[in-house]
Amino acid sequence: MSGLLIGCHLSTASGYAAMASDAVSIDATTFAFFTRNPRGGNARELDQKDLAAFLDTLEKHEIGPLVAHAPYTYNLCSAKPETVEFARRAMREDLERLERMPGHLYNFHPGAHVKQGVDEGIRLIREGLNEVLEPGQNTTVLLETMAGKGTEVGRTFEELARIIDGVDHDELLGVCLDTCHVADAGYDIMGDLDGVLDEFDRVIGLDRLRALHLNDSKNPLGSHKDRHEKIGAGTLGLGTFRAVVTNPRLSGLPMVLETPQTGLDGWATEITLLRSLAAEGASS
Ligand code: FE
Ligand code: FE
Ligand code: ZN
Repeated sequence: MSGLLIGCHLSTASGYAAMASDAVSIDATTFAFFTRNPRGGNARELDQKDLAAFLDTLEKHEIGPLVAHAPYTYNLCSAKPETVEFARRAMREDLERLERMPGHLYNFHPGAHVKQGVDEGIRLIREGLNEVLEPGQNTTVLLETMAGKGTEVGRTFEELARIIDGVDHDELLGVCLDTCHVADAGYDIMGDLDGVLDEFDRVIGLDRLRALHLNDSKNPLGSHKDRHEKIGAGTLGLGTFRAVVTNPRLSGLPMVLETPQTGLDGWATEITLLRSLAAEGASS
C-alpha cells in the first residue's frame, strides 16, 4: 500500500452519500466535486441525512481531505460587475456549506480578465477574496494554476503569488497545481519536474502547494490550450506521472484526476496505474 492520496472528480447527481460510495468503489482516498451545478444558479440544500451518511463513509474509509471545485462559471475578475458579484456571493455560500464538512479544500479558477489587463484582473481577484474569506473558516481556498487560455489569470506562478500577496487572510489560501495546465502554460514538468517545483518554491513557496490535478495534455508544452487527456496518452506521458507520484516534495498531497472518461471504470484503472507507479518508485 503506497498511501497515495488519489481520486477523481465525482458527480453529486445522486447525492453526497452516493458520491462517497462511488469513491470507495474505485479505491479513491480523495476526490473532487462541484459545489453546485456548473451552469451556475442556486445550490441544492444539503440534506441532513445524506450529509451524515457521506461524512460517515469518509471517516470509515479514511478518505480525505477532499478538494471541492468551484464551478468554472465563477469569474472574480469579470468586466461585468454583476458577474463579479455573483462569483463573490456564490463562493461565500459554497464556503458556508463546506463548514458543515470541515477540514477540506476548495479550489477555484482565479478568473479571466477579459481584456481589462492582468493588473486589473489581479486587483479584482484580491478584492473578491478579501470579501469572501472568513477568518477562522475551516476550509483552505486554493487558486488553480491555469493554462493561460484566452485572458485567464494565474498562467504564471508570479501571477498567483501577486494575488496571494494582496489578500489579508492569506493563511486561508493555497495553490492547486494542475499538471495539464502548467505544461500548457509552458512549465516543463515533462523534462524537469524538480526544476519546476524549485521555481514554484522560489516564487510562491512550496508550503502553499496543497493539492494536484492529474491530467495528461492533448497539446504540447506552452500551447495555452487546456485540453485534458487520459494519463499516459498525451504529451506529458507516463514518465511525468511516475515522477509526480514518486516525488518526495509532493507526497501526501491529494491528487485528483480530471481526465476524460465515460464512467468510473476509467478512473479506477488510472488510480490502480498510479498506485502501482508509486509503489515501484518506493521499492526501487
Ligand atoms: Fe479546475
Ligand atoms: Fe484542473
Ligand atoms: Zn483544465
